Amino acid sequence: MLRKVLYIDLSKEEIWIEERHDLFEQWMGGTGVGIQLLLEECKPGVDSLSPEAPIILSIGPLNGMFPVATKAVATFKSPLTKELGESYAGGRLHLAMRFAGHEAIVIRGRSNQPSYISINDADVKIKDATSVWGIDAQTVGMILRERETGVGRRSIIRIGPAGENLVRFAGVVVDTYRHFGRLGLGASFGSKNLKAMVISGTEHVDIPDPKRYREVYNKIYRETVQTDAMEKYHDIGTSVNINVLNWLKGLPTKNFQSSSFPEAEKISGEMFADNYLFRRLSCAGCPIGCIHIASLKSPFSKHHEFEVRKVSYDYEPIYSLGSNLGVSSAEGVLELIDTCERLGLDVMSAGVVMSWATEAYEHDLITPQDTMGIPLQWSNVKSYRNVLENIAKISNEFYATLGQGVEYASTKYGGQDFAMALGGNEVSGYHTGPASIVGQMVGVRHSHLDNAGYSIDQKAAKKQLDLEQIVDEIIMEDNYRGIFNSLVGCLFARNVYTEENIILALSAVGLEKTSEQLNDLGVKIFQDKYRFKTREGFNISNQRIPKRFYETVSTLGKIDPEIIKEMLMIYKKKRGWP
Ligand code: SF4
Repeated sequence: MLRKVLYIDLSKEEIWIEERHDLFEQWMGGTGVGIQLLLEECKPGVDSLSPEAPIILSIGPLNGMFPVATKAVATFKSPLTKELGESYAGGRLHLAMRFAGHEAIVIRGRSNQPSYISINDADVKIKDATSVWGIDAQTVGMILRERETGVGRRSIIRIGPAGENLVRFAGVVVDTYRHFGRLGLGASFGSKNLKAMVISGTEHVDIPDPKRYREVYNKIYRETVQTDAMEKYHDIGTSVNINVLNWLKGLPTKNFQSSSFPEAEKISGEMFADNYLFRRLSCAGCPIGCIHIASLKSPFSKHHEFEVRKVSYDYEPIYSLGSNLGVSSAEGVLELIDTCERLGLDVMSAGVVMSWATEAYEHDLITPQDTMGIPLQWSNVKSYRNVLENIAKISNEFYATLGQGVEYASTKYGGQDFAMALGGNEVSGYHTGPASIVGQMVGVRHSHLDNAGYSIDQKAAKKQLDLEQIVDEIIMEDNYRGIFNSLVGCLFARNVYTEENIILALSAVGLEKTSEQLNDLGVKIFQDKYRFKTREGFNISNQRIPKRFYETVSTLGKIDPEIIKEMLMIYKKKRGWP
């Protein structure tokens, strides 16, 4: 492997490639390399939307080589939390970067006009995007598809109006149905006048021992498709969790006022599968196909004429734009997901921001004058669509405030007790117990995917884990995911990529690592991410926990604030933090 980093300076219009064996040998790739490049490139305290704040895309040594090693990671300073930004996307991006021969891409500066970056192997150009600025995130993909070469080995990543207008939770759409959703990468693109990137390539990767590689590939492939490790993702998909979490009293409903939704069945994965599922798709290099695409039919004239939109759905969007907003119609949920897709908004943050605003409106913290006359009411899909449009357009001061996330909006308008963010990031769709809360608080990107606290809660319910054991599980997951995210695999395949399989796969592409080396690396990656976070002002001891978490019954019953305090103390002690 050539271990190349592509550098693009948009301000100076300079492009160059460096071989960085130093970086990849020590940090493998993906998130390990991403955080090192961020520490190198991002000076302390820079404004997250300034030209000095870089964007880093990286892949790992297994991408394009093994099944379900299908993600790319973006590392940046988050416009939402103002500290570490880290987001993962599937689709074809990882493969396009591999074929183009760039294991990492560093984007610096700011273009002086709307631009997009076109990468075809080592041929890299900054091109004029004036004619597509303002166009929605889905349509711009179709336009660039026609304009650029590289069909079949190409990835197109782009922002919508929300990113252009610097909404702090704008995302980047990747190949139509995947996203760098969380923590505001879309606003980072917008701040650089960067509308899109089109990446394709034709390079090959040399395998040191093809026979050995084939054996290991087949082993991992078999474990992926011939065991039940990933079956549920193909079948109903993650949306199967709607009914499960509803039964378990873990499904956030109406801004976490309840943990079960009486109408959950109507927006369940089974309901979508029976009535709306159109097809399933896969990220490039994945034999599973968990991307569930629904067909949303809506009339556009009185003469029985319909348009059909294809909308991808998952558990998280159904929680955030469904149960958490009291929306009980599957078509209403699809309508709101589609609106977020076009505008280029992160669905999770958008849903949580609107659920807080609905409650704040009920408490008269927000007035009809603020909302420009839009009534904020549970289940009112039409109003929520208008709110999303107004956030993306930044229609007035209120919508500009909403566009900075729920943490900021609640400091301005009140209602912090029910402003559902942890570490400044809008929370995920689990009210399962203390591990979910602590996991999102201590996780490097304040996401449920940092350490899967929600699943540790469910394990705790079955096995009666004590607090120390729960904290140990969180730490173990944090460290393991630092390694796996350096590879950069799909987390749905985490049960396939055991330590043994990771070591075998690395060895098959010529990288010899021991179990101890991997574990050390996981810890170091976590520590370096925290080095960046604390440098930018994050302090775990100052974090706000919304009271609502303690008021609403969870899967493990009512949560005692003292338990959270104790778990955080144990966590800090085990990490050696003051
Ligand atoms: S399981 Fe789903 S998200 Fe993961 S790589 Fe496969 S298709 Fe993509």
